[in-house]
Amino acid sequence: MRFYLIRLTLAFLLCLSSFAHGFDAVAAETELFFTPDKAAAQAVKSAIDSAQSTIHIQASAVTHKAIQQGLVDAAERGVETLLILDQAAHQGGEYTNADFFSDWNIKTYLYLDGTLRDYWVLIDSTIALTGTFNFSGATERDLATHLFIIKDNPELILQIFDNFSDRLSKCRHLPPKRRRALADTEQLISSENVAESPQKEQPQVVAKEKITFIGNTKSLVFHKSSCTSGKKLKAGNRIDKKNREYFIEQGYKPCGRCKP
Ligand SMILES: [Zn+2]
Repeated sequence: MRFYLIRLTLAFLLCLSSFAHGFDAVAAETELFFTPDKAAAQAVKSAIDSAQSTIHIQASAVTHKAIQQGLVDAAERGVETLLILDQAAHQGGEYTNADFFSDWNIKTYLYLDGTLRDYWVLIDSTIALTGTFNFSGATERDLATHLFIIKDNPELILQIFDNFSDRLSKCRHLPPKRRRALADTEQLISSENVAESPQKEQPQVVAKEKITFIGNTKSLVFHKSSCTSGKKLKAGNRIDKKNREYFIEQGYKPCGRCKP
């Protein structure tokens, strides 16, 4: 439904711009970066940091630490973040690259219709980043790739958006791993009445620390009060509570980093 609305808006903007072009041509703005050089990844990170409402991203995997952090922060501040990854991003290991994003409140999808070797970020349905740079730290250091940033080109953005929708229809959604793990743990607690803390050996120590928790009322993620993501939250979308149960009962998800 949301997809339909975004597409409608894009088509409308395209009409407006065609109309405007009739009088005065608006030059599309394009920037170009290359690796090995830090500028390409920094450009991706800055674009992600500037997102206000949506991020649509597709890649074989996203392993560059700063880009990962940018996506996590965006989802934390309430930006709707959709990620399409190649199936290989969910293979080889207990906890995969795809699991990481899904646990961080990023809607994560695995592409099922062949191998995904396409690299796109679409910011707020207005800025597109693409090229052969694959959002990996190793590539930034060692490989020769390029990245375009395209602005003010509604026609192209609409094409990219339609491609994203099409790819999404050939994906499966990957549910968060920690949420599943938490559900299992809660069952264990109710049946055996054991301490809720994962550090079962030292339940008294944990109780003495009087950990308080901070919830993000927008993203419905909660943190330990010591977590930097929790501390950064502004008063408008933040709720502080002494007991963890409050957040669980309200359907909040635990932060994947501070593991409250
Ligand atoms: Zn946290």
